Amino acid sequence: MGIWFTEKQTESFGITAKVKRTLHSEKTEFQQLDMIETEQFGNMLILDEMVMTTERDEFVYHEMIVHVPLFTHPNPKKVLVVGGGDGGTIREVLKHPSVTKVVQVEIDGKVVEYSKQYLPHISSEYGNLRAELIIGDGFMHILNSADEYDIILVDSTEPVGPAANLFTKGFYAGISKALKEDGLFVAQTDNPWFKGDLIRNAIQDTKEMFPIARLYTCNIPTYPSGMWTFTIGSKSYDPLKVENSRFFELNTKYYTPELHKASFVLPKFVDDLCK
Ligand code: SAM
Repeated sequence: MGIWFTEKQTESFGITAKVKRTLHSEKTEFQQLDMIETEQFGNMLILDEMVMTTERDEFVYHEMIVHVPLFTHPNPKKVLVVGGGDGGTIREVLKHPSVTKVVQVEIDGKVVEYSKQYLPHISSEYGNLRAELIIGDGFMHILNSADEYDIILVDSTEPVGPAANLFTKGFYAGISKALKEDGLFVAQTDNPWFKGDLIRNAIQDTKEMFPIARLYTCNIPTYPSGMWTFTIGSKSYDPLKVENSRFFELNTKYYTPELHKASFVLPKFVDDLCK
């Protein structure tokens, strides 16, 4: 039978993965951190018993949280990443030559430490001269920033524990203030099957603060329900109005210019959450 890791995605449903080895396990200052090697998806980072990323399917999330906003903005130079301790989001941001600096504010240094050790392909760009890592609270960083970033990416855990205030109206207001006058942000906003209310609130709050507010999706086998969403709020640029000339060749395995646009076509039950 062997050892299995099960993520309870709701009180009555979950996913389970056969474990080859436990690589590291500790209670950090902020959360329970487990790194395991799985038969199906390779090494897997788990925080507070929720799958954060795996070697095998990480590219979907990291390509979609980054390339949709960075191709939407005509000339992204300064980018902020809130969270993203595994390093996958900054890796994708740094594929854009226009970016002169990506600041990452990650609250838990242990996530960075063990991602470097056990997720080398995901954390490969730590130490890049264009990247600045700050170990701190993204909420406070946002509140202390003004008119500073072209793009802000909120790559946080679920709205519990250290990330509880990263899904509030006050946080989205702070994001608007921290962005430049033509800036835009993307936040990961969980799945429509089990977290419809979270999506409804995120879209509603974003609509109140940004002239352009949209939801887009992708498919991540190890995330709850397999369908994941991102909310984009933009002061000027519409992700559905990107000229084809803007796209350039990227080393990706999921993102394409066609999928960029198609990801905003929503199933009816998901579109209804955005009404
Ligand atoms: N892709 C994952 C998802 O969609 O759930 C997120 C992965 S990344 C590992 C999430 C990171 O957010 C974690 O490293 C966690 O420590 C960090 N985090 C949570 N709350 C934070 C906060 N207030 N400020 C900065 N980082 C935070």
